Amino acid sequence: MPDILVVGSLNADLVVRAPRFPQPGETISGDDLQIIPGGKGANQAVAAARQGAAVAMIGRVGNDSFGPDLINNLKQNHVDTAYIQIDSLASSGTALIVVDSNGQNSIILSAGANGKVSPADWANTSFSDHKLLLLQLEIPIETVLSATQRAKESGLHVLLNPAPAHSLPDELISLPDYILPNETELSLLTKQVVANIPSAEKAARMLLSHGAQNVIVTLGANGALIVTNEITKHIPQFKVEVMDTTAAGDAFIGGFACALLQDKSLDEAVRYGCACGALATTKFGAQPSLPTKEEVDTFMSLRAR
Ligand code: ADP
Repeated sequence: MPDILVVGSLNADLVVRAPRFPQPGETISGDDLQIIPGGKGANQAVAAARQGAAVAMIGRVGNDSFGPDLINNLKQNHVDTAYIQIDSLASSGTALIVVDSNGQNSIILSAGANGKVSPADWANTSFSDHKLLLLQLEIPIETVLSATQRAKESGLHVLLNPAPAHSLPDELISLPDYILPNETELSLLTKQVVANIPSAEKAARMLLSHGAQNVIVTLGANGALIVTNEITKHIPQFKVEVMDTTAAGDAFIGGFACALLQDKSLDEAVRYGCACGALATTKFGAQPSLPTKEEVDTFMSLRAR
């Protein structure tokens, strides 16, 4: 049985590169449209599978032309899709993504079938067959909470990536073993400005005071910060030539989860996640940019010299 279970979103990413983001009311020209499989759930499932983990996913696609493509794409990436349903009353999730000339992205999500993922979707699934549950917030919060409770009852480790930014009930802060926000998400969760390492630490400590167990803040080009009741440790970034930051966080989380399953220490697992995130920024797109285990191992061994 797959070690990693992902309960999350599948999206068709509709991506256009443009010189800059348009102003409100403005029309600008971009490059040709690319349609790329995405969704934080699917991206993290693929990110972990590329690191050699056995991964299964629970989720929904719509009854449209994107649905079968999204499922087939997961199969091609060796993710077990047996639990994924086609919702005959919904459209598939889509993400409208603009990438500017600096590699920054701007995204509008249409949840579609992702918005209908519910505990009924795992009625015939035994969580205890798996070791680790990966969750994000592109499906309903109540569903994320139910999955977390079920996973904890079944003895799984739970990793929550609270993305896209959304406030959380206290249980979703305290139950997961690891909560992994980026700076924007941490800022929204704590209503604090998060602009540098000290402010990230302060906000992460607020999550600890609400019962969080281990907070890992991803800091984009500044690497990541581990904040637990025992330690605060900054893990520096790997310097790379950035092309497109889409899915850097997904790459980080997939790599981090696999490293934990290999019994690496927290520091090592975060460093491994940073290498995955950095490599993902060197290529265009979401899933196409997610690195393989071989790529990460080579990259890290070259950087260690
Ligand atoms: P998200 O994509 O969720 O916003 P981040 O931007 O924080 O997440 O990126 C996740 C991880 O990817 C970071 O912790 C970092 O290790 C790596 N990363 C992201 N951007 C860069 C960059 N410009 N240079 C090097 N590493 C990066």
